[in-house]
Amino acid sequence: MPNMSLKKNEMPSQDPNVRNKNFKEVALGYTKEQAMDEAARCLNCKNKPCVTGCPVQIDIPTFVQHVAAGDFEAAYEVIAKSSALPAVCGRVCPQESQCEGKCVRGIKGEPVAIGRLERFVADYHNENCTEKPVKPESNGHKVAIIGSGPSGLTCAGDLAKKGYDVTIFEALHLAGGVLVYGIPEFRLPKAIVQKEIDGLKDLGVKVETNMVIGKVLSIDELIEEYGFEAVFIGSGAGLPRFMNIPGENLKGVYSANEFLTRVNLMKAYKDDSATPIMKAKKVAVVGGGNVAMDAARSAKRLGAEEVYIVYRRS
Ligand SMILES: Cc1cc2nc3c(=O)[nH]c(=O)nc-3n(C[C@H](O)[C@H](O)[C@H](O)COP(=O)(O)OP(=O)(O)OC[C@H]3O[C@@H](n4cnc5c(N)ncnc54)[C@H](O)[C@@H]3O)c2cc1C
Repeated sequence: MPNMSLKKNEMPSQDPNVRNKNFKEVALGYTKEQAMDEAARCLNCKNKPCVTGCPVQIDIPTFVQHVAAGDFEAAYEVIAKSSALPAVCGRVCPQESQCEGKCVRGIKGEPVAIGRLERFVADYHNENCTEKPVKPESNGHKVAIIGSGPSGLTCAGDLAKKGYDVTIFEALHLAGGVLVYGIPEFRLPKAIVQKEIDGLKDLGVKVETNMVIGKVLSIDELIEEYGFEAVFIGSGAGLPRFMNIPGENLKGVYSANEFLTRVNLMKAYKDDSATPIMKAKKVAVVGGGNVAMDAARSAKRLGAEEVYIVYRRS
C-alpha cells in the first residue's frame, strides 16, 4: 500500500538562527527511514509523467521503488545510468518545475520528494560504496571538453561510458564551473562536487586545470597537435551583465559573479582566507533569482545586519 500522506517528509535542516551565521550545508538529508517512508508515497504510475519532466530522463519510479524496498545501491545504479551528477542534481536541480512538477501526487497535495530521494541515494552510495566503477573498454577516439561546469562534466561522463578518451580543459584552478565558483557551500558542499568529479576520473576522464583554451592552447592545436577528433565547448556564461547606471564602479559594488567567486571559490568567508571581501552591515542585492538569493544569503552569513533584495517585478 502506498503512503497516502499529502505532505512530503520534511528534510532535517539547520535552525535558521544558527545557519545564518555559518557556511555549512543548510539541509541535512533524509535518514534511511525517512527516505523509505517518502519513497512509499510514489504510486509507480504506468506512464511515468515525472520522467518526462527530467532533462536526462532518469527512470524515476524504478529508482524510487528500490528506495522504498531499502535497496539503495540498486536505486543508485538506476540513477547513474542517466546522470553523471546525482548528488549535485539532488541538491540544486529545480525539481519543482521538472520531475516533481509533473508528479501525480502533486495534484492533491505535495509531490513525491524526488530531489530529496535522489540526494539521499547519491549520498548513501558515496558514503558506503568503496568499489570503483569498471573503466569502459576504449573505442580509440579522443575528445576534448572545454569547461568543467555541469555541461562539460555531463558530456565527459556520457562519452567516457561509451569508451571515449576524454580530457576536460578548465580555465580555473578547480573543476566544477558554477558548482564551485557560484553556488555557495551552504547549498552545495564543494566536497560533494569533488566526489562526483572523482567518480568521472575513475571512469577514465582526465581533467587539466589552469588551461584557458584560446590563450594557453587553441582549438586548432588541440585537434592538429594533440590529436583530439572532436571538441565540446561548455564554457558557460560567466561574464556579468551590468545595468549601466551611475555608481556601478564605486567601492563596495560587486557583480554577483565576483562576490560569489570571492566567497566560494576563493573561500573569503574563512577567517584565514587571503581573499579580501567587503563585509558590510547593510547590503542591497539587485535581482531576484538563484544568483541573487545566493548573494543575499552569503552577505547575511558574512555578518550583514540588514540585507535587502531589490527586484523589478512583484
Ligand atoms: C550563483 C548561481 C547559482 C545557480 N543556482 C542554480 C540552481 O540552484 N539550480 C540550477 O539548476 N541552476 C543554477 N544556476 C545555473 C547553473 O549553474 C548553470 O546553468 C550551469 O552552471 C551552466 O553550466 P555550464 O557547464 O554550461 O557552465 P559553467 O558552470 O559556467 O561552467 C563553465 C566552465 O567553463 C570554464 N571556461 C570558460 N571559458 C573557458 C576557456 N576558454 N577555457 C577553459 N575553460 C573555460 C569556466 O571557468 C567554467 O568552469 C546557478 C548559477 C549561478 C551563477
